[in-house]
Amino acid sequence: MLQEQEAHAAEMERTFIAIKPDGVQRGLISEIISRFERKGYKLVAIKIVVPSKEFAQKHYHDLKEGPFFNGLCEFLSSAPVIAMVWEGVGVIKYGRKLIGATDPQKSEPGTIRGDLAVEVGRNIIHGSDSPETAKDEINLWFKPEELVSYTSNAEKWIYGVN
Ligand code: UDP
Ligand code: MG
Repeated sequence: MLQEQEAHAAEMERTFIAIKPDGVQRGLISEIISRFERKGYKLVAIKIVVPSKEFAQKHYHDLKEGPFFNGLCEFLSSAPVIAMVWEGVGVIKYGRKLIGATDPQKSEPGTIRGDLAVEVGRNIIHGSDSPETAKDEINLWFKPEELVSYTSNAEKWIYGVN
């Protein structure tokens, strides 16, 4: 039993998810949060913030060679963003599945972008794409004390091991 618990704990991950300015302005905050919440993932940090352009450039530093980089950073810093950390088994990879493909024209129906967005430049949500970027993005957006570790009553019904 102890071994099972340790294996379960080792599978726990955290990912950085942001609702971009278009998602906030379109009133999609609760819709997006609800999809992660209903899946069984746990919200461990959340805030509303207008990032500076410099901050947006740091967040998207991997894309600085892209032709859309400047517009993307201007957009992210133009209005409030909801920054969140979600926790659960497989949340980094599965979070990306819930979000859908980068271009909403290619996102499957049933995904957040597939159901709720039309254009790549207005695809309403960001999610970390790997364990390394998840770690970096969580550290960029949140101080350690802003991450709240807690047990939810639902966990024993979501996971076979507690
Ligand atoms: N983006 C864009 N044009 C492109 C590719 C990307 O405007 O041709 C934007 C889009 O909003 C995307 C963001 O840049 O969400 C980051 O790109 P990335 O390839 O990391 O996609 P994501 O990880 O968000 O799916
Ligand atoms: Mg990305």
